[in-house]
This record gives sequence, C-alpha cells and structure tokens, in this order.
Amino acid sequence: MVSFALHGVGVSSGIAIGRAQLVSHATLEVAHYTIPARQVGAEIERFTLAVKEVQRELEGLHSALTSGDAPGEFGAFLDVHWMILNDATLCETPKKIIAEQHCNAEWALTQQMSVLVEQFEQIEDAYLRERKADVVQVGERVLKRLMGRPGTLPVAKAEEQTILVAHDLSPADVIQFKHHHYGAFLTDLGGVTSHTAIVARSLNVPAVVATHNARQLIRDGELLIVDGGNHVVIVNPDRAVLAEYRLKQDEIDLARQKLKRLRTKPAETLDGVRIELYANIELPDDLAQAVDNGASGIGLFRSEFLFLNRDALPTEDEQFEAYRVVAAGMKGKPVTIRTFDLGADKQAESLEGLSRVAPNPALGLRAVRFCLAEPRLFLTQLRAILRASHYGNVQILIPMLASVSEIDQTLAMIARAKESLREQGVPFNSNVPVGGMIEIPAAVLAMGAFLKKLDFLSIGTNDLIQYTLAVDRADEAVSHLYDPLHPAIVRLLALAIGQAAKAKIPIAVCGEMAGEVLLTRLLLGMGLKHFSMHPAHLLGIKQRVLQSEFAAARPLVERIRRTDEPYKLLALIDRLNA
Ligand code: PEP
Ligand code: MG
Repeated sequence: MVSFALHGVGVSSGIAIGRAQLVSHATLEVAHYTIPARQVGAEIERFTLAVKEVQRELEGLHSALTSGDAPGEFGAFLDVHWMILNDATLCETPKKIIAEQHCNAEWALTQQMSVLVEQFEQIEDAYLRERKADVVQVGERVLKRLMGRPGTLPVAKAEEQTILVAHDLSPADVIQFKHHHYGAFLTDLGGVTSHTAIVARSLNVPAVVATHNARQLIRDGELLIVDGGNHVVIVNPDRAVLAEYRLKQDEIDLARQKLKRLRTKPAETLDGVRIELYANIELPDDLAQAVDNGASGIGLFRSEFLFLNRDALPTEDEQFEAYRVVAAGMKGKPVTIRTFDLGADKQAESLEGLSRVAPNPALGLRAVRFCLAEPRLFLTQLRAILRASHYGNVQILIPMLASVSEIDQTLAMIARAKESLREQGVPFNSNVPVGGMIEIPAAVLAMGAFLKKLDFLSIGTNDLIQYTLAVDRADEAVSHLYDPLHPAIVRLLALAIGQAAKAKIPIAVCGEMAGEVLLTRLLLGMGLKHFSMHPAHLLGIKQRVLQSEFAAARPLVERIRRTDEPYKLLALIDRLNA
C-alpha cells in the first residue's frame, strides 16, 4: 500500500489514528428522465413528500439537540438549514420545473441547486458566499430522500477509531458525529470560518479541511493519521511513522489529563502575579464549557450572535433573559457583554431593512458605528444589559471605537438607558463599568481619551491585525499576510498595554492571540494581566502562566518591541519561550 501525505487547513488541533470511512454527499449520481404528462402531479407529490421528510429530520435533530448537551452553534446551524429548506427557491421552484419540463424530481432539484449556487458565487461578501455550502447540503438531503437514501451517517465501530472523510459536511451531519465519537474528520472543502470548522473546534476533535481531493484519493478502510495542529493527513503510514505518532498521541492525552487538574488552581506567575483568564462566548449555552474549564470570568460575550440566523430582532426581554442567565451563572465573577458588533462578516438577516450593501463593509457602518446610527436598537440592548446587571457582575464593552465623539455618544446613550429604567423603577447596577475595545490603530495612537472616559479596555487583536496590516481577516487569498507578529502589531500591543498600566486602567486581550501558548510570555512581558479566549484554550494558557515569570521577561520583550526584522523577532520570541 502506498503511503502519502495530504495537506489542508488544520482547523482543530490534536492527533487521531484510525480507519477511513468515506461519506458520499456531493457525489450523488442524479438520473435525468422524462415523466409522462399524466404522472407530473405524482412526481410533484414525490418531491413535496421528500421535503416534508427532511423537515421532520431537521426537527428531530433539533429536539435531540435541546435535550442533549450539544454546543450552542448547532441550533443556529439547524435554523439556517431550516430556513433554506423552506425558502420558495428550494421547495417551490423545482415543482414548477417538473411541471414545465416534465422531468423527474431529482433532476428538477439539481437544476435549481445549480442556479442557486451560481447566485451565491456572485455575492461579494466572503462569509455569505460560503453559505452556498449550506444550500448544497440541504439540497442533498432532499435528493437522498428522493433517491430512497436517508441521510444518516454510518455508525462507527466501537473498537477502532473511525475517521470520517467527506467532500463536505453539514452542521447537521456533525451533530450525529458527536454521538458516534468519530476520531477526526477530513473534508475537501471548507475554510477556517466555515461552519464545520467552528463546530469541530467546539467539539475538540482534530479536523483538517480544504484538502481539495481527500475524498477521491483515500479509500474506505485505509489507515489514516490526522494531525490537526500540523495541517497534515498521512495515508497508509509505515510502521515507524505510526509508532512515532502513537507516542505523540499518548503524550497529548497525558498532557490533557494533567491539564484538567489545573481547573481550580489560581493562575499565578512564578513571581506571584495573579493573572485573570476569562472565556469568550457566543451564546448563553457556551457558559457550561467556560465554567468547566475554570474561567475566572467572561471576558467577551459576542452578543451579536443572538441576532444571527433569525427572522425577527430579539426583543428587550429576550435579550435580558440571555444576559441574565450568563450573569447569574457566573456567580459574581465578571461578565463582559459586548454590544452588537454587526456588519462586515456578521450580517443579520433580521436586519434586512436596516442594513445596506456597503462598498467596503469592514470599513463601513459596523459595530458601534451601526449602533449609534440605530439608536432605538442600541437603547433596547443597553436597557437589557443594564437590567441583567442586577443579577451578577456585568460590565459593558463597546466594539470598534475610534474617536472621542463615539465614546461620548455611547456614554450618553447609556445614561439615557439608565434614566428610562430609573423612571420605570427597574433595578440595575448604576455603577456598571463601561469599557472599550481597542481594535483600530487610531485607538492605540490616541488612547488618552479612552483612558480618561472608560473604566477598562480590551484589545481585539483579530481586528487590530486586520486594520493595521490592511488584510481582510476573512479573505483566504491574503491570509498569508495576516501576521500577529508583524513588528507593527507587537509595537501597538506594547504601547496599548503600557499606556493602560500607567493610567491604572485594566486592559485585556480578547482576540485569538490571547489563546496562543507561544505568545503568552510575550504578552505577560508587556505587562498584560487579563486574557480572554475560547474556553478550550483556558487550561493550556493557565499552565503556561504557571511556568512563566511576569517581571523577568521585560528586558527581552523590550528588545522584541524594538526589532524591525521579522526573523530576528522570531528568534527572540524563541528565546523567550525556551
Ligand atoms: C477581535 O477583533 O479580536 C475580537 C475579539 O472581536 P471579533 O473577533 O468578534 O471581531
Ligand atoms: Mg473584533
């Protein structure tokens, strides 16, 4: 058997060794034949029945979800699939095609799917364009029903790990994946921001996407090693390679077990400095994972996720309930609720009437700019957050601030929201801290007003990198230029953290950099004491903190800050991590 390696994008790290199980999804062969005129009605009925069956299938998955412990994203994904399925372009147009062309239902649906896919490909927004995959997945579910093939995944054998290899996987498939305990998964398609990647990360299963042709090159039952951290898949490894990976796997397992013991241990550096490790969450359901991993607070609740994938805006009461659950669930620990960061790659369908096509959405009416332009929507959210502040240790975080006038307008809106609650006699914490996100270079370079007017700051490195280097964080074509260790980024971070320390204003990092073990010492050396990250990274970072000095790294970090040459900078970071 020939041994070879495939490269893709590792979206979830870890190593899995197991047998390949191929899943045919996008490779369905669709027959095309003519229907006699008298059978057209029955053919339309066959199509309607298949759609109904898939509706029931999705409903079943949804109720399994609400009774189980699946991550919150799944529900949202199922909602998207439900909406696609019930859209007239998918559930009605094929009927017209059958009636007009007298063709079989499979062929009518396939034709319509091609039309929809083509329409999605014309969309400029990369995130929306990626949703094309969801349309294909829903269409294929209906196709499988039509072809008498229900869309259930094969059951994995208990004694051996099974690695799923698919052209693409839908979020609904991945839910079943959770119950079957697959060891890993590989897909030909998908990007770092694809639904499959997001779900894989929340399941903690190694995954490599964008392998291009894994589905074609790998055969059922072949032995595979999936190394998510190194973006590689080894097919039919020889004995030496296998032994080496088994050893690595044991080491990772052991390290994970050991990490669990750190759950309740305070994060303190070797020289006795207490570090706060907070969790980033998207929905209230994510709270459990944050608590399980010992988060000492919620550093970023991305509240805009309450808006996505729904027809109507969430009401004040609905929002209040979501914020209250998190505030109360953290039992007095800080809960930082970020006001809506809508726009750019996060467009809410429920805002159709309010949003418009911007020439450059990342530089357009996004985040606080959008909220200030829609004061009613902003006030509703601020009232809901303030009401929740009565039930826990809530703080408000404002995204994408660039100028003093935005801070002033936001503080005035918060004052208005407080006033209206006071008038109605609704209880809230009148001293709720208000913080700002540092995501735009201008905010770092003119931070004086931020330090004077706000109670705390949080650096969103994901956007800070995008806006400093002029590299769209969602565009695969320029992803090689997206560099967290660009000297400009290092300097901006040091400058922001240093200024905040001097002014005695708490500052955190809540972008992906906070969850990167190789950057922990760099950030500590800059004086950072608050980190916020995906819950899965918390214990690894805590371990790193426990092994690091806070003060001793300063001189080396100062040299890193002054370095212009990327290679020298990397060599110094290696020294820091030695
Ligand atoms: C960031 O920009 O780093 C951040 C934490 O916010 P988001 O990723 O939600 O834009
Ligand atoms: Mg951001």
